[in-house]
Amino acid sequence: KWGQLRQRLLKTVGQNNFTTWIEPLEFQQLEDGIATFNVPTNFMGNYVSQNFADLILHELRHENATVNRLNFTVAANKSEKPRTMPAKPAAAPAKVAPSSALNTAPLDRRFTFDSFVVGKPNELAHAAAKRVAEGGPVTFNPLFLYGGVGLGKTHLMHAIAWELQQSRPDLSVLYLSAEQFMYRFVQALRDRKMMDFKEIFRNVDVLMVDDVQFIAGKDSTQEEFFHTFNALVDQNRQIIISADRAPGEIKDLEDRVKSRLQCGLVVDLHPTDYELRLGILQSKVEQQSRNYPGLTIAPGVLEFLAHRISTNVRVLEGALTRLFAFASLVGREIDMDLTQDCLADVLRASERKITIEEIQRRVSEHYNIRLSDMIGPKRLRSYARPRQIAMYLSKHMTSRSLPEIGRRFGGRDHTTVMHGVRRIEELKVQDGQIAEDLELLRRALEA
Ligand code: ADP
Ligand code: MG
Repeated sequence: KWGQLRQRLLKTVGQNNFTTWIEPLEFQQLEDGIATFNVPTNFMGNYVSQNFADLILHELRHENATVNRLNFTVAANKSEKPRTMPAKPAAAPAKVAPSSALNTAPLDRRFTFDSFVVGKPNELAHAAAKRVAEGGPVTFNPLFLYGGVGLGKTHLMHAIAWELQQSRPDLSVLYLSAEQFMYRFVQALRDRKMMDFKEIFRNVDVLMVDDVQFIAGKDSTQEEFFHTFNALVDQNRQIIISADRAPGEIKDLEDRVKSRLQCGLVVDLHPTDYELRLGILQSKVEQQSRNYPGLTIAPGVLEFLAHRISTNVRVLEGALTRLFAFASLVGREIDMDLTQDCLADVLRASERKITIEEIQRRVSEHYNIRLSDMIGPKRLRSYARPRQIAMYLSKHMTSRSLPEIGRRFGGRDHTTVMHGVRRIEELKVQDGQIAEDLELLRRALEA
């Protein structure tokens, strides 16, 4: 089936594009409405998803109406996490800089300020983005947004672009990923079109480069980026940059580039907290409900998800999408049972990893002893018992081996750890207080 589909894509995209981007795609599977393809590199995955996803999706839907997402995974490198890319809706094209040679990356219609939920972890970044989106005089240049995966960097950048189209339709706004920047640069070099390239990039009013960490270690791209950056700053044009970490922490980035990046306003998006996650879920439920009228969610489900699913908003959204799709298929309310069934894998994967250090800290707080006494050599019962409890919890709540646990408890022997663990197992059934303490500690650690 993919075979025929490719024929049709070939007609639409032309031989060149087809050979470069479509031909190397290897269809893997279709599951839960997600069509998965193997791609040779992440770069290709990104490029295809940004430029051809709509088209591929359109063709796939022609065959099978249930497809709603494309997922590109890198086959050769198994350690790389597959990235699920939401298919971009066929959005109105981003405002194109004054040159026909430039196709800007399409902006995601869903990524607006309206749909961005503000909470403590992202309020600064949001405020800064809002300010830039007003299109007033340039006050900080660049605006540098950084934070972990799925915390809303791209969302905010698209939101700025959308808003600028409204507030300042006279400005030419260019949004692209650092990968695309490099790709364009390399292409310009190859086609001997550097003049055009410079012309385009040095004539935009607002330049946004997403995931700039990508150009680390890519010397000539960095060089060109540096010059573009300087040229724009000199003309007082607004630049907005995102990265997965602070400028100073990006390895293999030239110092002069780093310091340039730091000289505006640097704001980070902190990992989401429970309240923000709950807020995001509530707002997404509102959106999803439009697609699935009549579906209901039992009380407590959103709280449970906000509590259990990691800080990455993308994972949270994916979970919700899956829940809605599943519930509508089986025609049931979204309750705890359905949630547990439907999201078993997600919930397992996001289980928090508890560390021995955390256990030691909790236990010493609980028994009001010093951490050094818990780990140290003292044999007094008032230290030894908490120590054994911490060993017991370490054995049961982490995947550490007995020798490893012994090492973390001041270099004790694994037989000492084993003895401690056994002792607590005995006491747990004999001593109600110990059983209760264990339960309390376990719950506190799992929270
Ligand atoms: P990043 O670029 O930082 O990796 P994205 O901007 O792509 O993250 O966000 C991942 C997903 O999470 C997107 O679908 C985005 O809409 C959503 N998201 C992230 N933060 C928020 C937020 N505060 N409110 C609403 N949606 C959010
Ligand atoms: Mg992003």
